[in-house]
Amino acid sequence: MTPDPRYGGPVPGRYWDRAVELISSSDEIALACHISPDGDALGSMLAVGLALRAAGKQVTASFGERRFTVPRLLRFLPGQDLLVEPGDYPAAPELMVTFDVPIVDRLGMLSGNAGKARELVVVDHHRSNTGFGTVNLVDPAAAATAVLAEDLIHRLGLPVDRAVATGLYAGLVTDTGSFRHSSTTPGVHAMAARLLATGLNPEEIARELWDRSPFGYLKVLGAVLDRVKLEPEVGGGLVWTFVTRADRAAYGLPYDEVEGIIDVVRRTDEADVAVILKEDDDGAWQVSTRSKGGVDVSRVCSALGGGGHTKAAGFTSHLPVEQTMAGLRALL
Ligand code: 5GP
Ligand code: MN
Repeated sequence: MTPDPRYGGPVPGRYWDRAVELISSSDEIALACHISPDGDALGSMLAVGLALRAAGKQVTASFGERRFTVPRLLRFLPGQDLLVEPGDYPAAPELMVTFDVPIVDRLGMLSGNAGKARELVVVDHHRSNTGFGTVNLVDPAAAATAVLAEDLIHRLGLPVDRAVATGLYAGLVTDTGSFRHSSTTPGVHAMAARLLATGLNPEEIARELWDRSPFGYLKVLGAVLDRVKLEPEVGGGLVWTFVTRADRAAYGLPYDEVEGIIDVVRRTDEADVAVILKEDDDGAWQVSTRSKGGVDVSRVCSALGGGGHTKAAGFTSHLPVEQTMAGLRALL
């Protein structure tokens, strides 16, 4: 199938047909999502994985991290038993399907497996998607990869039970910011209605995703907010802070627990752009950026080797905090 990168508009019908044909005719299917998975990446992957397993397929699912652990806040997602460590993943899958992955690099350790896959179905909604699959189910207009995952499950003729719906719902609420982002179309609410009708518990899902953390989180949040800086003269206003490995270590806080701090920082009225630099366990800085619309942060982050969406993007930096910020300021 012709790769068709960076196109707008819905996925062509013949792409869907080809994906359905490939999946229906395979007994073994290897699924993958991006490293540092969020609710959309892992939720979409596990939802499709559960639906396929119920249909009798042998399913393997993973993401390519050396220190393979599921973020604490995503451990409630049904289907964790589908997961294998990247080292145990098929080296050259006959059929591999990726979720929420815009570029091969975001597969981390599984990039090589994708390169050797005979057929590679890419399910994604990033505008920056490079079309690296043999079949690309990529729709930048979709509010979440979960929207495309639900469509795929329906086209395969498979049922969406409560467990499958939980993964899809986690993806939908994560990427729409709990139905707050402009991506929240009538279609998004219609999908939410279909998922709720399976009997899932939205309160429980919201609490798992956003409303709980260990006590140490409050102490780290305090330290991180204490050092926040506002630079009104940069772009439409820039607010930024950082969280070090040492900050987290003082309270035994794993990396994924600090992922939500950006949502506090970006509240700032005086800033169009919010940035947080998070030092991971390897000492690399994972930079998260958010914009209220004045700046396209996906362009800024792409220029720095990352990517993402217009209003939410990121990149990895191996430079000290001040140098990374100097690079960002120059682009803003
Ligand atoms: P977050 O800040 O929540 O980690 O990521 C926001 C958005 O930016 C997501 O859509 C994510 O896919 C993208 N993103 C974050 N970090 C990176 C990165 O290092 N590379 C790329 N290509 N995209 C990233
Ligand atoms: Mn997504």
